[in-house]
Amino acid sequence: MDNMEVKHIWSEVKHELRENLPDHVYYSWIESLEAGTFENDVFLLHSVHAIAPQIIKQNHNDQFLQAFKKVLGKPVSYNIVYDDDLARTYQKEMKKEVAKSKLYTSPEEEQKARVMKNLSQMQSSANLDLKYKFENFVVGETNKRAYGCAKMVAQSPAEKFNPLFIYGAPGLGKTHIMQAIGHYIIFNKPDLKVRYVKTVDFVNEYMSKFSPSTDGRFKNVTPEIAKFRQKYRNVDVLLIDDIQFIESKTKTIEEVFHTFDYLLNKNKQIVITSDRAPKEIMLPERMTSRFIKGVVVEMKPPEAAVRIQILKNLADLKNLNISDDVFEYIAENFKNNVRELEGAFNNVTTFAEIDGVEINLEFAQSVLQCDIKKKSLTYDVIAQKCAEFFDVTVKDFKSSARASKISKARQVAVYLCRELTEGSYESIAEYFNKKHTTMMYSWELVKEELTKNKEMASYVNSLKKIIKEL
Ligand code: ADP
Ligand code: MG
Repeated sequence: MDNMEVKHIWSEVKHELRENLPDHVYYSWIESLEAGTFENDVFLLHSVHAIAPQIIKQNHNDQFLQAFKKVLGKPVSYNIVYDDDLARTYQKEMKKEVAKSKLYTSPEEEQKARVMKNLSQMQSSANLDLKYKFENFVVGETNKRAYGCAKMVAQSPAEKFNPLFIYGAPGLGKTHIMQAIGHYIIFNKPDLKVRYVKTVDFVNEYMSKFSPSTDGRFKNVTPEIAKFRQKYRNVDVLLIDDIQFIESKTKTIEEVFHTFDYLLNKNKQIVITSDRAPKEIMLPERMTSRFIKGVVVEMKPPEAAVRIQILKNLADLKNLNISDDVFEYIAENFKNNVRELEGAFNNVTTFAEIDGVEINLEFAQSVLQCDIKKKSLTYDVIAQKCAEFFDVTVKDFKSSARASKISKARQVAVYLCRELTEGSYESIAEYFNKKHTTMMYSWELVKEELTKNKEMASYVNSLKKIIKEL
């Protein structure tokens, strides 16, 4: 069961418990419990108080069992474990709350604080992450159009660009900018209902609602599905992230199509992101034509000035004083993916903290040199090693030969080029003399196959090792 669903069940159970237990019990021990997993009919909860598991099991076990049974429609058991990390975060939050409450000098301020609390509840029910706002998005040449469109949609939902379709390679800020739209709307137009969803969660949630009937076929509209539809159609702004994930998910494609139609007919705003342009996603034409009805905007890797500014902002957040040559060194070596740029920066700062040393250029170089080595691998080296391994030639890879031995070897070579370098599908396609959609398809095929085929997983792994050690 996916995380969102487990959380949803827990919020309903919590609601039951709040109804059935005295306030002091609820607010002392239950409000702060967090949902963990739900597997084999055991619901796992995490507690921030070491004694909560014992207190609950001894005094409120019946109410817990009843609440779960009511929500899930069957008896299940539950387990509560004390979670150290969660407890630390909780204590920090509590300290902040106490500090804040001391600051209220007037009823107006208290009212303002209450509004802010409501706002944060709305943000979490919209499924938004607080990190992703317009204020901390660095704008430059390669993302200014996407930023401009996003800002316009946020200011006038369903009036300007509908749907707004943002695409670009991974790690360029698509999710960030999409969620920023959500935050902006919640803050400025609190009456509008916003919902953000990752396509993968949408697909899993939708598919989990189908239960086979006695003849083994799937029933069509169950109450579960009606509830699911309500959840995604009863909104003013739907933010749907990484839509390329529905490729080949026939059943969900239909559902997404009807959801879009429904929302667009009611003049509700839709924002979509994808790792490629609409026409490059393998989807029915009627679906693609919905995407391009509004505006389609591409994001490209940010220029050096933006990369450096992003790093400086991260350093400010951590209160670190770092010299420019370190920022420049990291920015110069991580050009194509902001997630990796941030990852590199975090590695340097974390290791400096662990080692108890100052961050300077030499230190950053010593931490990052292996990541950078990875990037310097060429397609030629990778293709050569794969060709040797499969007993074919690099020329075969570049040819249009389709013999199964060559195709298979070529797919693995493409997969490893993608995994072991920073190269884009376009540049890999150029090297192999193929279309870039073929490269994407090869990568996905191998990735999927690796989860099922142990023998293949083992030789692809050894190939990876051999190449990395070159
Ligand atoms: P994508 O959805 O395109 O894969 P994300 O939105 O998840 O990428 O961005 C990856 C990381 O990079 C996030 O932490 C995001 O905040 C950060 N990021 C990307 N672009 C920018 C930018 N222009 N300014 C600030 N942070 C950025
Ligand atoms: Mg994303």
